[in-house]
Amino acid sequence: IIDIKHLSKSFGSHEVLKDINFSVEKGEVVTVIGSSGSGKSTLLRCLNLLETPDGGEVNYEGQNILTHMEDVNEYRTKLGMVFQQFNLFNNCNVLQNCVLGQVRVLKRNNVEAKKIAEEYLNVVGMGRYLNARPSQLSGGQKQRVAIARALSMKPRALLFDEPTSALDPEMVGEVLTVMKDLAKAGSTMIIVTHEMEFAREVSDRIVFMDQGVIVEDGTPDEVFNHPQHERTKAFLKRAL
Ligand code: ATP
Ligand code: MG
Repeated sequence: IIDIKHLSKSFGSHEVLKDINFSVEKGEVVTVIGSSGSGKSTLLRCLNLLETPDGGEVNYEGQNILTHMEDVNEYRTKLGMVFQQFNLFNNCNVLQNCVLGQVRVLKRNNVEAKKIAEEYLNVVGMGRYLNARPSQLSGGQKQRVAIARALSMKPRALLFDEPTSALDPEMVGEVLTVMKDLAKAGSTMIIVTHEMEFAREVSDRIVFMDQGVIVEDGTPDEVFNHPQHERTKAFLKRAL
């Protein structure tokens, strides 16, 4: 689905991504790990053009979106993004949160959009909270709504940027369970997380980033049990 070649990105003189080559196939679950500041979020944000890369290619379905982009908003719907801080619309209820993008960007009619939204709110176990406001929900519930909102767009892939990092410990599990179910159902997912047990269990591939470079890219067994690089070993020693 996505194939990145020689991607680079700087903020001022700070080169945050250096010659990144990375691809994700349909149905694959890829987890990106690495220390703070290594460029994980910037990589995800370059994929859906929340950041503009300086160089290289971002090929989506075989087309370089950096040179062939018609409608950025429409493109972003194909890569559903879930953020650490939920980013729900706080003045809308749960159902509206999942309906708005469908109506505004995908031009679905209200009836259809509500039906789809309810379907995915049920998938994440939030079907009983359609009229609740985000302020009335726990962090875990908010994040499940954010996942349902992303799913409602019927994206080709889901991108998660530390979806459980802002949650109280007792709520991490409910969000990871939803993500595991999506992975089992065959969703294409790119996940940035510090939850190593989870990453090992659900991922087809683990990508380790350090200082803007992909140092290691392999199966969970390869990366966790047989890391090839000193930098990976040092990181895992701290993280596991
Ligand atoms: P974390 O685990 O803390 O989320 P990360 O791996 O996601 O880290 P990024 O957020 O991608 O790291 O940031 C990589 C580097 O780029 C950091 O040094 C950060 O300070 C810098 N950076 C990120 N966004 C910007 C920005 N908009 N302007 C300037 N510098 C930025
Ligand atoms: Mg980050």
